[in-house]
Amino acid sequence: MQYSPLPIAQTSGIRVRVSGVRRSFEGGVVALDGIDLDVAPGEFLAILGPSGCGKSTLLRLIAGLDSPQAGEVQTFARENVQVAWAAGRRADLAYVFQDAHLLPWRSVLQNVALPLELMHQGRGQRLDASRRAIELVGLTEAVDRFPAQLSGGQRMRVSLARAMVTNPRLLLLDEPFAALDEITRQHLDEQLRRLWAAMGMTIIFVTHSTTEAAYLAQRAVVMTRRPGRIIADHRIALADERPAALRGSAEFAQETRVLYSALERGGA
Ligand code: ADP
Ligand code: MG
Repeated sequence: MQYSPLPIAQTSGIRVRVSGVRRSFEGGVVALDGIDLDVAPGEFLAILGPSGCGKSTLLRLIAGLDSPQAGEVQTFARENVQVAWAAGRRADLAYVFQDAHLLPWRSVLQNVALPLELMHQGRGQRLDASRRAIELVGLTEAVDRFPAQLSGGQRMRVSLARAMVTNPRLLLLDEPFAALDEITRQHLDEQLRRLWAAMGMTIIFVTHSTTEAAYLAQRAVVMTRRPGRIIADHRIALADERPAALRGSAEFAQETRVLYSALERGGA
């Protein structure tokens, strides 16, 4: 079957506003306290911090999977127009976890099509959109394979394609490539960066890697733990065009140094 060359669907990003958020758990762990964060439509933000500082908790709050005890999380479809995920607008939002979470008995194509099935999209449209998403992540030759027949990097690509298939306006990723080897991770970072540049959704990417944050993002916030707070908010001073070789440059080293010293100041 032939597909027209990708005119990638452009989307407009969701704006996210987190104000005065506090979240504690039974047993007295204050996971987050006094979190203020404004993410512009179409921005690529990295959240960087040591393990246990509340990154996943914050991402879950933004996704509406959890609620804060104080403060609020607001998401805006347009200027002054709020979106509530609970109100059936989940298509605008996609979440990618560290584990690919694929269904082992479904092929790559069937895994990627799942969100559209849940939205009751017709079969033809569903398969078409899924094939496109698979093409976007460079997995066309594996479309009929099953998860057990894929490498770790390929499984993450499937997970990414499944997240893209609904054309989300907000993409949340929680240490998605952390378990992969360095080279695979760098390739996936490059691919994600290209997808974001072409599509224009808002991305919030959680990582504990300073180099990953510096390569990917336009801006990085650094968190500290107990309680989880934002201790630095840094605009990444690198050009939009980010070839792989950028990672070896002095300006790149400078950016990772800034993030690293913020992590150190936070006691990571
Ligand atoms: P990170 O993603 O940065 O590693 P988390 O957001 O997972 O951190 O966790 C932040 C803190 O909150 C940790 O101390 C963790 O143990 C605690 N925590 C997270 N979720 C729960 C929960 N459901 N119940 C109790 N404690 C939790
Ligand atoms: Mg986490």
